[in-house]
Amino acid sequence: MAAEICGLTLKELEGQFQALGEPAYRAAQVFDWIYKKHAFSWEEMSSLPKILREKLAAALPFPVIREKSVSLSSDGTRKFLFELFDGQLIEAVFIPTEKRAALCISSQAGCKFGCGFCASGIGGWKRHLSTGEIMAQVLWAVKSCAAQGEVTHIVFMGVGEPFDNYDNVLKAVRLLNAPEALKIAARRITISTCGVVPGIKRLAGEGLQIELSVSLHASRDALRSQLMPVNRKYPLSELMKACRAYARDTGRQVTFEYIMIKDLTCTDKCVDELAVLMRGWLCKINLIACNPVGEFPYTTPSPKEMIRFKAMLERQGVITTFRTPRGRDIAAACGQLRHAARKSR
Ligand code: SF4
Repeated sequence: MAAEICGLTLKELEGQFQALGEPAYRAAQVFDWIYKKHAFSWEEMSSLPKILREKLAAALPFPVIREKSVSLSSDGTRKFLFELFDGQLIEAVFIPTEKRAALCISSQAGCKFGCGFCASGIGGWKRHLSTGEIMAQVLWAVKSCAAQGEVTHIVFMGVGEPFDNYDNVLKAVRLLNAPEALKIAARRITISTCGVVPGIKRLAGEGLQIELSVSLHASRDALRSQLMPVNRKYPLSELMKACRAYARDTGRQVTFEYIMIKDLTCTDKCVDELAVLMRGWLCKINLIACNPVGEFPYTTPSPKEMIRFKAMLERQGVITTFRTPRGRDIAAACGQLRHAARKSR
């Protein structure tokens, strides 16, 4: 398979030009077209000779990505469903607020990890996304959301487990961050994992200032294994050890995502257990109200119960935030749109 243009670093593209017998400076021109002028085809790059564009289109194609649908929420959230060259579906969600706009992106088509509250795992894993495909969803969304605002943050929290596709994801992170490409500050890029311990350990050694977010969702092994099968492979003791080491070695705070499910994950017992896991080191917990998916039997606690749970954690010395649900009217939670589209097929 030919290398995809959006998955190449500037240095790699210079090498490709040299291999094709073309001057290396052309690579910077191409980067300018893609990352500054939002070109998404070789034909658009009018400063390049036509014959060269034809040669490049054959040697370095753009990834095939087709916007299958786009839904706009009343809160401004915009959700894209993309189809790839082989018919696989992925999602990206643009989430604007007053001061920033985050783009949540996918790293795989489908997911192996089958978390018990997530629509992405239904139907299983199909394949990894290439770096070019990861970047293509970003470039597409950046261009089509430009009128609504600039993408300031990138979050790997869409379909798939980023650490299961480690190399392609990390290469995309470096491209997102590169001054000659998208130039998004490392601190504004978040990788979210379900708790794949080897990935956490590996990321700690990358020397990147990016954010690490871990889906915790339960405070004890039995419950976490029930909600997240990954816990059977990497139980809480191992996960927390890797997270503490990450915080110690990088000096960066680890965020734990935590879904509040009525009568299950937000009891008084959960507060005590979470305090033991999280007190006294560089971490915080981000509470999310359970977003019901038809297939799963979980319900959202009342606002009063959620406020109480947060206050109890804070009293125990745990740094706690709430994630405001966005785009509920367009099924913006991970995998919901993709799942609905696959079901209707
Ligand atoms: S939460 Fe993440 S890791 Fe778990 S099934 Fe969904 S996409 Fe996969």
